[in-house]
Amino acid sequence: MKKKIRRTVTYLLLSACFFVQLQEQVNAKNRFDYEKDGDIFWDTETDEKVIALTFDDGPHSKYTPAMLDILADYGAKATFFVLGAHAEKFPDILYRQFSEGHEIGNHTYDHTTNLNKLRQEMKETSDIIYAITGTRPKLFRPVGGDYSDTIVRIAKENQLSVVLWSWDQDTKDWSDTDYKAIADHVIQNVSPGDVVLFHDAGGNREETVKALPLILDYLTENEYEMITVSEMIEKDEKLKRNE
Ligand SMILES: [Zn+2]
Repeated sequence: MKKKIRRTVTYLLLSACFFVQLQEQVNAKNRFDYEKDGDIFWDTETDEKVIALTFDDGPHSKYTPAMLDILADYGAKATFFVLGAHAEKFPDILYRQFSEGHEIGNHTYDHTTNLNKLRQEMKETSDIIYAITGTRPKLFRPVGGDYSDTIVRIAKENQLSVVLWSWDQDTKDWSDTDYKAIADHVIQNVSPGDVVLFHDAGGNREETVKALPLILDYLTENEYEMITVSEMIEKDEKLKRNE
């Protein structure tokens, strides 16, 4: 009898676990749900030859100015998702990024993946960017490209939109990729409306610096315009309204 009860209890527990798992699967949202709701932006599809180059984890004392020089040579605009801690350390570089027409986005204060710290780090970083540039950031890029309802909600509370990147435009410049491979990756996958992921800090970024002129030569020759992420989002919203 006891055995029977134990078996029944086990069965009920397993069923409950299965039901909970099933519910989670039903509730799990994918990229298209978030895109449809306009809660997260990856990229857009357009006939206009536009591309958004993005750089995470800076500013860096050496790599960021080198990248700014190259971008200026090509008249290219980019978006920098900065860490509050680095912006605080290099306010002059952040101000230069802003004053040269690039967009500044929020990438947490200290690269946290801890959801309990996210609200505070997001707010602190937006405040630092505002104190240095006089403009509040509009965009947030989550660390590691993680996204969820919680991240979207905390970003909204801070008047920030969540931005990722085109699935085929992660240059993997964070993993010792050589500059030719970084450039080839972007060039081979490029299509209008792409958002490309680079890093200007968080490690040795010599290869990214070296890859940039190759990429910008190609994009310029092929008549691409390098715009900010907010400009790209505006184009995306316009396209959606016309549909
Ligand atoms: Zn990062």
